[in-house]
Amino acid sequence: MNSTKKDIRALSKEELRTFFATHGDQAFRGTQVYEWLWQKGAHHFEDMTNLSKATRQMLDENFSINHIEVDSMQRSSDGTIKNGIRLHDGMIVESVLIPTAKRSTACVSSQVGCSLDCKFCATSRLKRMRNLNPDEIYDQVVAIDKQSKLYHNRPLSNIVFMGMGEPLMNYNNVLKAIDKITSKEGLGMSPKRIVVSTSGVPKMIRKMADDQVKFNLAVSLHSAIDSVRTSIMPFNETFPLKDLREALQHWYAATNRIITYEYVVWEGINDTKTDIEALIKFCQFAPSKVNLIEYNPIDDGEFQQANDTAIDLYVSMLEAKNITVTVRRSRGKDIDAACGQLANKA
Ligand code: SAH
Repeated sequence: MNSTKKDIRALSKEELRTFFATHGDQAFRGTQVYEWLWQKGAHHFEDMTNLSKATRQMLDENFSINHIEVDSMQRSSDGTIKNGIRLHDGMIVESVLIPTAKRSTACVSSQVGCSLDCKFCATSRLKRMRNLNPDEIYDQVVAIDKQSKLYHNRPLSNIVFMGMGEPLMNYNNVLKAIDKITSKEGLGMSPKRIVVSTSGVPKMIRKMADDQVKFNLAVSLHSAIDSVRTSIMPFNETFPLKDLREALQHWYAATNRIITYEYVVWEGINDTKTDIEALIKFCQFAPSKVNLIEYNPIDDGEFQQANDTAIDLYVSMLEAKNITVTVRRSRGKDIDAACGQLANKA
C-alpha cells in the first residue's frame, strides 16, 4: 500500500505550494494538486489531468494517496446505501447514504469500533480499535456525496455523525474533518447541516461549547433516570445525568441552540409515565427536540421496541409541555444499515 512513500494528504496547501516552488515548478501547482485531492477527491495522480505527465510521475515517485476505498456496497429497497469502507491499513468502517424526499444524508463513522458499551448497539460489540483520522472521516463524506449525485442526482444535503464510534472520544479529528467539510476549499457545506451525535461525554460537550462550534448537537439519552440509563448505557455510572445536564446547560448558554435528544422506547425498560416525567424534567431547561427512534433489533431479543400505546403516551405528554417530538422510522433495515446495526456484518 505504498507505505514507504509519504502520504501527500498529510500536507497542507501551503506545504504543497512550497514543495512545487522548491522542485523546479511554480507554487500554483500546489494549489491545483490540493484541489484535486480535496475538492475532486482524486485517488490517483494520473487522474490529475491538468498536470503534465512528468509532474504526475514525479508525484507518484514521491508520494502516496492514502485514500479510503468503498469495499462493499449494499442498496436497500428504500434507497439507503450501506458502504463497507476499507481504510489504508485494511480496517473496515461503515457509512450510510440515507435519501428522503427532500434530503440526502450521510451517516459517517468516527472510530473503528467503539469504546462505549451501550447494551443495545451492535457497534459496541466490536470494541474500539482506533480513531479515524480527519481525512478518513472527510473521505467518507466525499464518497457518499458521489453516490448521492450518481444515484439521486443531487449532492449531499446533511451529515450526521451517527455511524460507528463516539465522535466526542475522537474530538480533535472530528473537528478537523468538519473544518474541511465546511471550508470553501473542501465541500463548502454549512455547519448547520451537520449533527454530531454523542452518548453524552460532559467534559467534551463543555469543550464544544467553549470552542464555539457551529454544528448541531444530538444526545443519545434513552433514559433520564440514572439507574435505568446505567443499566443500558453502563458508562452513565462515570458520567451521570447530573453532569450531563450541567454540561448541556453550559452548551445552551454558549450557543443558544436547540438540543436534540435521541431516544428509543423499550418495553419494560423506559415505557412508563415515570420515565416520561423524568425526561420532561431533564430537558426542560432549554428548547429541546426529542427524536423517538425505532429500535433496530441486533440479536437475541433482549430488547423489544415498546408498543404504539407507550410511544403515543410519550408524544402526548411531551407535546403537552411544548417539547417538540418526532417519531423517526428506521431506514435501510433490510441491509443492517440502521442506527446501531453497524457491525461489519457485510
Ligand atoms: N456514539 C454516538 C453515535 C453513534 S450511535 C451516540 O451514541 O450518539 C447513533 C444513534 O443510534 C444513537 O442515538 C444510538 O443510541 C442509537 N442506537 C444504537 N443502537 C441502536 C439500535 N439497535 N436501534 C436504534 N438505535 C440505536
